[in-house]
Amino acid sequence: MIVAIDGPSGTGKSSTSKAVASALGLSYLDTGAQYRAITWWMLTNDVPVSDAEAVAAASGRPEIVSGTDPAAPAISVDGVDASGPIRTQEVTAAVSAVSAVPEVRTRITELQRSIAADAAGGIVVEGRDIGTTVLPDADLKVFLTASPEARASRRSGELKGKEAGDVSATREALIKRDAADSSRKTSPLKKADDAVEVDTTELSLEQVVECVVTLVESAASAKEQREGQAPAAGTANEKAGQISK
Ligand code: C5P
Repeated sequence: MIVAIDGPSGTGKSSTSKAVASALGLSYLDTGAQYRAITWWMLTNDVPVSDAEAVAAASGRPEIVSGTDPAAPAISVDGVDASGPIRTQEVTAAVSAVSAVPEVRTRITELQRSIAADAAGGIVVEGRDIGTTVLPDADLKVFLTASPEARASRRSGELKGKEAGDVSATREALIKRDAADSSRKTSPLKKADDAVEVDTTELSLEQVVECVVTLVESAASAKEQREGQAPAAGTANEKAGQISK
């Protein structure tokens, strides 16, 4: 069972994906953390992040290892735990430029596909281009959205102390990052045609998790039916789409 959860920042992707994976006994992969990790490596190795050629040339050097336990998401770069440093504002401000470089995307996409292929019991993969590019054959694709106000206030709530700043500054930064992620040439942030869209603006985390767990369960039984009897009776996403309507 492969579940792709995409959407812009602040829609609750990470919290939802981890909770859904834990509830269903699936593995979990945070692909944003991988782009943050390669960005952190570029910054700490003095690679000028606005120079796409320099970033492309260095993109094969860092060794990035992601854990897939939803209860303890881990990421290391060259053997060093990077889970703290990848969340700084410096990394957040640079990540869109680094992740727009095609060589970076090729490298990270390969890594993501191999992690998903190795996840024997199934996996929830969250990001921006999972349903469109990384795992286009996912059993279920979910695209989370929320109003800019809701996204900014959630993101401000996650940041601590000085980093939280004011909500309007967070809102501007989010909008800027989403615009960069949506307009890049290679694999932009985009809803897959067959993804189920869930607007989380008015929903609590528990409600979003419940909704996605229901979608995964119906996708799983559609998959079971498809694999157990031919011909196919409709794709998992078609079924999940019917249920969510
Ligand atoms: O999800 P998170 O906010 O941690 O993602 C950080 C950045 O990583 C995004 O703003 C985007 O530039 C990049 N990203 C991406 N493709 C993904 C996941 C994240 O380009 N699948």
